[in-house]
Amino acid sequence: MNGKRVIVIGSGLGGLSAAISLAQEGYEVTIHEKNAKIGGKLNVLKAEGYTFDLGPSILTLPHIFERLFERSGKKMSDYIPIRTVRPHWRNFFEDGTVVDLDPDPDRMAAQARKAGENPENVRRFLKYSSNLYDLVNAGYFEQGLDTAAAFRDFYGLGKFLKFDLFRSMHGGVKRHLKTRYMQDIFDYFIKYVGSSAYHSPAFMNCMATIQFRYDLWYVDGGLYHIALGLQRLMDELGVKLCLNSEVVEVGKENGRVTDIVTRDGTRHVADIIVSNMEVIPAYEKLLHEDEILMKSLERFEPSCSGLVLELGLDRKYPQLAHHNFFFSDRQKEHFHTVFRKRLLPPDPTIYLVAASKTDPTVAPAGCDGLKILPHIPHIDDAKPLTREDYMAFKEQVLVKLERMGLTDLRKHVVFEHCWTPHDIREQYGSNKGSIYGVVSDRFKNLAFKAPKQSTKYPNLFFVGGSVNPGGGMPMVVLCGQNVAKNVVSWNRR
Ligand SMILES: Cc1cc2nc3c(=O)[nH]c(=O)nc-3n(C[C@H](O)[C@H](O)[C@H](O)COP(=O)(O)OP(=O)(O)OC[C@H]3O[C@@H](n4cnc5c(N)ncnc54)[C@H](O)[C@@H]3O)c2cc1C
Repeated sequence: MNGKRVIVIGSGLGGLSAAISLAQEGYEVTIHEKNAKIGGKLNVLKAEGYTFDLGPSILTLPHIFERLFERSGKKMSDYIPIRTVRPHWRNFFEDGTVVDLDPDPDRMAAQARKAGENPENVRRFLKYSSNLYDLVNAGYFEQGLDTAAAFRDFYGLGKFLKFDLFRSMHGGVKRHLKTRYMQDIFDYFIKYVGSSAYHSPAFMNCMATIQFRYDLWYVDGGLYHIALGLQRLMDELGVKLCLNSEVVEVGKENGRVTDIVTRDGTRHVADIIVSNMEVIPAYEKLLHEDEILMKSLERFEPSCSGLVLELGLDRKYPQLAHHNFFFSDRQKEHFHTVFRKRLLPPDPTIYLVAASKTDPTVAPAGCDGLKILPHIPHIDDAKPLTREDYMAFKEQVLVKLERMGLTDLRKHVVFEHCWTPHDIREQYGSNKGSIYGVVSDRFKNLAFKAPKQSTKYPNLFFVGGSVNPGGGMPMVVLCGQNVAKNVVSWNRR
């Protein structure tokens, strides 16, 4: 132990990763989590024989998680059992076309032909994606770059131009892929960060490589086993965990943060505070910052939210794969409606998970449990939608799924659970019910998020989807590791 006390506010994956990494560096770490269990958006619902991942259902880049275990001389496989999923995604279109994504080049080429796309176009797109990934990964991801100056120093002008800065993500897709099917599918990789392919920068096309080079993974028994595995590691490292312990205030004095106050009125002193509560709500609600600071953060607009619908069925739909996408017939309009007009989309692209295709333990025999997730706008507090609005939208989603092949879906529902953006905000304290932190938008923030170290209080750090490199499980875990590095090097100075 180095004698320094760190308080982590929140036990989302970013908070857990920071807590573990700091404990490994000898800090005395305590986590205060407002909910009754750890994991934040990595969440589970068990009911009537079904197990649903309420949050993430796709694990990518497991090597980033593995580092947390390696640093303690352990193996992740002893804590978290993972396996690959085939196909990666099954994609359904309104005209009846069905195309799978598969990392095997020959199988992918066959799927491209089925969609009328020259397989060579897909190969060239994946090469373009791969180059972008290597570029983005070297600095932005692995070095944890946070500022324009750090970017300039690491990349220099020559490499900066290779980011394909003058195109949107869709522009990068369209340059390589000619059919509407393949364009819609590769545009929808933007789902991993809850943004729009038409408004995010082209370098977001690096995301296809995350799946095609490093594969797509499932955790046996459901993804919440990631949280359980990390909890075991934290226990072994002596990280203290206070559940049902909401932080309501952060104390400050002479330009430093000093302590936290929990809902029961207790004050806890710390040398360093790491907030896994998002940057904007933390500054506003815990630190009561003035309008000048809050205004400077407006460019970090929240990502989209979602309607999170779980259905227990009394039958199986054999045409489904583990991960399925039911595409909007007008995907450009879908993105514009959600991200510019901020309205519920009349014809959304729908993500649907049937984990029972890989793991029979998550549904009763002969039945499917479905998680259905259309992306919808974050909350507009000036004109909030009602639960009735969201329920009418839910009905529209179910009608679309029935039209696209899930015949009589509504007649086979024996269990239902549904969260709107208001439930998401209430549950995780996220900004306006966002599900991936900050939106990636080339005009608003060029896909950059807030920095990990507070610009106002040097001993206050942030971790999770609202800071660089942003949302998604592997990114927030990487963020936690980079926060620990930042804390250590700041402390040495
Ligand atoms: C429906 C859904 C589907 C998703 N699908 C995927 C996917 O398939 N793959 C993927 O990689 N990612 C996915 N994501 C995104 C991923 O879940 C998140 O990016 C990631 O888990 C967020 O981690 P975080 O560190 O930002 O913390 P969060 O998960 O946001 O957790 C923050 C924690 O802080 C706590 N907290 C907040 N305020 C306070 C306070 N004042 N006091 C104490 N505690 C507080 C909250 O209760 C919460 O536990 C999905 C998210 C959702 C919601």
